[in-house]
Order: sequence, then structure tokens, then C-alpha cells
Amino acid sequence: MPGLIAAYAFLLGTVVGSFLNVVIARVPAGESIVHPRSRCPGCRFPIAWYDNVPVLSWLLLRGRCRSCRTRISFRYPLVELLGGAAALVAVLRHGPSLAALAEFALAATLLALSFIDLDTWLLPHALTIPLLAAGLLLSWAGLTAAPSLIGSALGAGIGWLTFALIAFIGERVLRKEALGFGDVWLLSAIGAWTGAAALLPVILLASLQGTVVGLALILLGRAQPGPTDAPVEPVAPSAPPADPDADWVPPRNAVPFGPFLAIGALEWLWLQGFLVHAVPALSIFR
Ligand SMILES: [Zn+2]
Repeated sequence: MPGLIAAYAFLLGTVVGSFLNVVIARVPAGESIVHPRSRCPGCRFPIAWYDNVPVLSWLLLRGRCRSCRTRISFRYPLVELLGGAAALVAVLRHGPSLAALAEFALAATLLALSFIDLDTWLLPHALTIPLLAAGLLLSWAGLTAAPSLIGSALGAGIGWLTFALIAFIGERVLRKEALGFGDVWLLSAIGAWTGAAALLPVILLASLQGTVVGLALILLGRAQPGPTDAPVEPVAPSAPPADPDADWVPPRNAVPFGPFLAIGALEWLWLQGFLVHAVPALSIFR
């Protein structure tokens, strides 16, 4: 029976992952996530339900549109698989419970935010602030890793202040943008879900991995100069949103920080035992 529940959670996770693909494509553009139906970016043909089955449809169609053969990015089944994996981990950790559902909601939102940040260098408030609110509410209900509502509120507040201070110092003192305010709200939301004690290990894990990946990209000459190679989106395009930062160009040889904050948060949440075993000094943050 546990195997059946795990399989069911994984399948449900891939279906949510399919919806996350829509969120990733549409939320930054300010479009509705329920209407219209997904369309092929090449021929505008609405995608039938049987061509929208997570992972399987992409494999059966060999990554191409059924009607016009336009290539569909590998990222679509990847996000679906990651959604499935997140649901599986949540159920294995908590059993079929509200706590599992809450943890899956956190992981799914972090997944969407990560890919949006990779595409657009933005972490939309439309996602980070509801994530923060949900973290406070669910911590009050005892369904998160935060020790209590007060621990959650402290995590949110200290997280916000820490990154806001770094952003302010970067802008005013170093005269360069060290952190965007999207990262400030994201860390605040993560703090609401994990409590204040987790903030430092999350920031350490994020910075360490962000640095390693950033250096690797520079060495490989692959650092992206800007949000130019976003994959094809199977939804209706629209005019870019009016945004005062629209002409902002990301610094050369930079990687967005949001995905690393997301990875750091999930690592601390899911691999804490292993990490503390490997680096005993980390146990003071538990
Ligand atoms: Zn097509």
C-alpha cells in the first residue's frame, strides 16, 4: 500500500508540474494561468488533453508539436518530473498528510520561481508574497518546519531585513546591484517556512552552490549575458508587461540567485540530517 501511495503522489506531482510549466510561462507576463488553453508556439494550435499528459506525451511526440513539428523544450517534461519527485519526497517524509501537501506546495512554488528567475531574472511578488503568507499560516497550523508561528514570523522578518540590508548596502555603498528585491521577498518567504535558525545555513548553501556554478559557467564560457535563450513557450505570447526594470540588463557572467536560494532551502529541509552529519558545526542551526 505505501508503494501505491508513493506512485500516486508521484503521478499527481507530475500533473502539478505540468501546471507549473504554465505558471512559469505566464505569471511573469501577467497573463491568466487558467485561460486560454495551452497552444503550440509554432502553429497556435490548441494542445489536446492527450498530447498534454505529463512526460509521456513529450516522449511519444519526441519533443515536437503534433501538427507542425515545432520542437518543444526538454524543460517541460523536466519540470513535470521535478514536480513528481517533490511530491514523492514530501509523501515519503510525512506520509499522506496535510504536512506532506504543505511541503509539496512549498517545493512546487520554489520550482516555478526558480525557472521564472532563470528566464526573466525576476521573482514575481505574485508568487513570493503568497508563499510568505502561506508559510506564516501553515506554521501557525504546525504544518511547516518552522518551530511555531513566532519562529516563522521571526524567519520572515529576519530574512527580509538581512537581504534588504545587503541590497541597500550594495546599491548605496558599492554602487552595484548585489541583490534584487525579488531575492529579499524570496528569503523572507523561505524564512516563514523554515524558521529563523535555518536562514544562515540556507544562505550558505545557496551562496556556495551559486559561486561554484557561476565560476563553472565562466570557465566554460557559458555564462548567460542576458535572458536570451528562454525556451519556447506553448502559450499565447503577449506584449511584455510595463515594468520600470524592463531595460535592466543582467550583469555579465552572472547567474540569478533565486534558484540557489530555492535549492538551499530544500537541501536544508530534506538533507539536514546528512549535512549535519557531514559538517557537525551546522547542528547549532537545527
Ligand atoms: Zn505546432
